[in-house]
Amino acid sequence: MNVTNKVIAITGGASGLGYAMAERLGKQGAILALLDRNTLALDEAVSALSVQGINAHGFPLDVANEQSVIEAFSDIADRLEPVDGCVNNAGITDDALLLKVKDGVVAKRMSLEAWQRVIDVNLTGVFLCGREAASQMVASGKGGVIVNISSISRAGNMGQTNYAAAKAGVHALTVTWAKELAQYGIRTGSVAPGFIVTPMTAAMRPDMQEKIASEIPLKQLGEADNIAQSLAFIFENDYFTGRIVECDGGLRI
Ligand code: NAP
Repeated sequence: MNVTNKVIAITGGASGLGYAMAERLGKQGAILALLDRNTLALDEAVSALSVQGINAHGFPLDVANEQSVIEAFSDIADRLEPVDGCVNNAGITDDALLLKVKDGVVAKRMSLEAWQRVIDVNLTGVFLCGREAASQMVASGKGGVIVNISSISRAGNMGQTNYAAAKAGVHALTVTWAKELAQYGIRTGSVAPGFIVTPMTAAMRPDMQEKIASEIPLKQLGEADNIAQSLAFIFENDYFTGRIVECDGGLRI
């Protein structure tokens, strides 16, 4: 797909990877619908992109809330056009070990709330936004591209029962939708970032960041634009669907 003048929705577009993706696709001429939960952050992101001559618009939503997602995508179609692309990027972490054991006794367990919070945003949110985007693409008859942001953690990662399960699920959606939606001209893809410098990783302890960097073959965390490049590849390559692009400096967890 040539993204020039195409309407591309990016969830979590006000921050981190979502913002970097908006910047890269925007410079290629895409019309961006940034979807995020914080209206102020959305306004700031839209302004910062507009200063660079990028055509960006903000749409507040909670990706985990069905009604909110339906209304936001309907607003995009009304204010812009039905979407040609959708990047399901909004995500959170709420890390904890399944069990914390002290002297052979279970002292703490991952709460159901922590499990559900992450599944709601990182997996159900992708389902809801992907379903809305695909519906618009079919109705418009134009087809499109849907990209889901997974993670290196989808392979299973200590302290991330909820997050790893969601990120594995996200890639399963990518494969399933590739099979179901190709007949309507819709391609899909996943991007699985390793550890990338964003507000999400900035929340980690500095000693933890250093330890992670030392284990990465390229010896540093990635930049947000590295992930935006992977995303742009999926949009550009018309024979790519249902597969995952791993961008992680060579790290395996
Ligand atoms: P980020 O900077 O925290 O950005 C995530 C954005 O999503 C934020 O603007 C956040 O809003 C928004 N968001 C969270 N919950 C939402 C909801 N319910 N509805 C709408 N928006 C919501 O994180 P990031 O590092 O850019 O991560 C982006 C994606 O990449 C995530 O899916 C993450 O799992 C994935 N990823 C990141 C890394 C990494 O190293 N950074 C690695 C692998 C995968 P608030 O700021 O208000 O919470």
